[in-house]
Amino acid sequence: MKYLDEYRDPALGRELLGRLARTASRPWRIMEVCGGQTHTLVRQGIDELLPAGIRMIHGPGCPVCVTPLETLDRAMAVAARPGVTFTSFGDMLRVPGSTTDLLALRARGADVRVVYSPMEAVRIAEENPDREVVFLAVGFETTAPANAMTVLHAARLGLANFSLLVSHVLVPPAMTALLEDPDCEVEAFLAAGHVCAVMGWREYEPIAERYQVPVVVTGFEPLDLLEGILMAVVQLEEGRYDVENQYARAVRRRGNDEAQLALARVFRVTDRAWRGIGTLPAGGLELAPEYAAFDAVRRFEVGAQHSVEDPDCIAGAILTGARLPTDCRAYGIRCTPRTPLGAPMVSSEGTCAAFHAAGRTGSTP
Ligand code: SF4
Repeated sequence: MKYLDEYRDPALGRELLGRLARTASRPWRIMEVCGGQTHTLVRQGIDELLPAGIRMIHGPGCPVCVTPLETLDRAMAVAARPGVTFTSFGDMLRVPGSTTDLLALRARGADVRVVYSPMEAVRIAEENPDREVVFLAVGFETTAPANAMTVLHAARLGLANFSLLVSHVLVPPAMTALLEDPDCEVEAFLAAGHVCAVMGWREYEPIAERYQVPVVVTGFEPLDLLEGILMAVVQLEEGRYDVENQYARAVRRRGNDEAQLALARVFRVTDRAWRGIGTLPAGGLELAPEYAAFDAVRRFEVGAQHSVEDPDCIAGAILTGARLPTDCRAYGIRCTPRTPLGAPMVSSEGTCAAFHAAGRTGSTP
C-alpha cells in the first residue's frame, strides 16, 4: 500500500535497529507519549527488539484511558435522563464507570448512540428538535478542534438542544507533571505526531530546555518509531536536549493555525482531572463563557459525582509508566478486553489492551 508500506519495511527496520545498537553506549529510558505509538511498539514487538538497555516507558496518551471516572459517571447520569440522546465514539461505550457503562445503559433502554464524527451529533440534534442531544467530547488536542467546530456550527444554526460533555486534556501539562515527579525515570520523550500536527511543537521547547530532556515529534508506523527512538538516543548520547521532528511529512513547528483558532474561540484552558493521575493545573479545556450554553454539565447539573475505582485497577501507575499491565493482579484474569475493569483494557490505544492483544504475560518491557 503506497505511503504505508514504506514505513513498514523490515530491511529498513533492521538497519535502524543496527544503528541504534551502534549508537547507544549505555541504558536509556524513553517514553512514547501516545497510546497509538504504544500499540505499534507492542504489536510489532519493537520494544523487545531494541538493543539491551533501551527501555520504552509507555505514557499516558490514550484519550479513553485518561478520561476521569467522574466524567464517565456524569455521562451515565445524563444518558439515563428521559428525552436525552447521548452520543459518543464507540470506545467510550464500554469504559466502566463506578457502577455501569453506557452500553449497559443502552441495553436498559437509554438512547445511547455511536457516532463517527461529532458533526453527526449536531445533525441528530437538528433532526430531533424535541430531544436533548449530548456528545461526549474527550481526548487530546487532536480531537478538540473538531469538537470546537461542532459548537461553532451549532451556534450558527441556533440549536438549543445540543451540548457537549467536555473532558479534553492537554499533553504538555502531563509531560511536565511526569517530569516533576521525583521518581520519574523518563530521559527522553517521543511526542505524539498527531497532537503536534494540530499544535506544532513550540510548547515543547520550554519543557525540553527546563528539564533538559530531548523531545522527538514522532509518527505511528514501525519505522517512524524506530527513527524517533534513534533520534532521541543520538541526542541523549550527545548530551543535547532539543525538540526535533521525525514526523516531517505531517508536522510543522507552528502546527495548524485554523485548528488552533477554533480551539481558542470555543475553549479555554482549565485545571482538569486525568484518570488515575489526578487534577493537573491547566491540564485541559473547558467551554469558554461565550459558549457555556453548550455545556452539558451545567445544562443537566451533573457536576458532583461520587466515583469509586475498582480497587484492583492500577491504571494510574500504568498511565504514568510506573508499572506494566503484567504487574496488575487483575490483568488477564478479572480484567480482559471482554470484561474490562479499567479504561486501559478497553481502548484500542490502551496499554493493557495492547499487552493483552500481543499475548504478553511476563514482566517484559
Ligand atoms: S489490567 Fe485492567 S484492572 Fe489492571 S490496570 Fe489494566 S485496566 Fe486496570
